[in-house]
Parts: sequence; structure tokens; C-alpha cells
Amino acid sequence: MHELALARGVVEVIEEQAAAQRFRRVVRVRLVIGALSHVEPEALAFGFDAVSRGTVAEGAALVIDRPPGQAYCLDCEATVTVDERAAPCPRCAGWRLMITGGDDMRIKDLEVE
Ligand SMILES: [Zn+2]
Repeated sequence: MHELALARGVVEVIEEQAAAQRFRRVVRVRLVIGALSHVEPEALAFGFDAVSRGTVAEGAALVIDRPPGQAYCLDCEATVTVDERAAPCPRCAGWRLMITGGDDMRIKDLEVE
């Protein structure tokens, strides 16, 4: 379950921020998990609860934004929305798509006290 490792990475980043910016507690964490990112939001939330125990992020609410996948179609020269990586263009049914967004996971912002 690679979400557990990702959750650990998120908590590590938060702890580094806490040390640098001297906050004691995180109230809310907003994550962006693109629809094409291969990250399961529920599994990540579960992992986050487990690995944040005893850290500044313990008890923080996790808010997950889930932007759709975006791709540029070389055939119809348009930016389209795709649900999965291995999908044809929804406009022209072509397969020459370049993924341009919705494929990453990152921390968007933290609400701290
Ligand atoms: Zn197309």
C-alpha cells in the first residue's frame, strides 16, 4: 500500500514546516490528488490518520481536492478531460493524448495554530 508511504511523506513535510515556521498544531491539511495520480484518497486518509499520531498533524482534518485528468490531444488539437490514463480522446476517439494535468499529488495548504 504505497499510500501509507505517501502519507508518511506528507507528515514529514508538515513537521519540517512546523519546525521552520514554529507552529504547534495543524488544524487542516488540504491535499490535491489528481484523478490520474494512482493515489487512492480513502487509503491515503486512512494512512494519514495512522502516521500523524504523536505529530503536529495529529487530529488534523484532511481535505482532498480531486481535479480531473487533463490531456492535450495531438489529433484534434484540444485540451480534454480524461478519467484514466489509457483512454482515447473524448472528442475524436484518437489515442495521441499527452497528459497535462491531474496526475500529481501535493499539499495545497495548511491551516495552523
Ligand atoms: Zn482528439
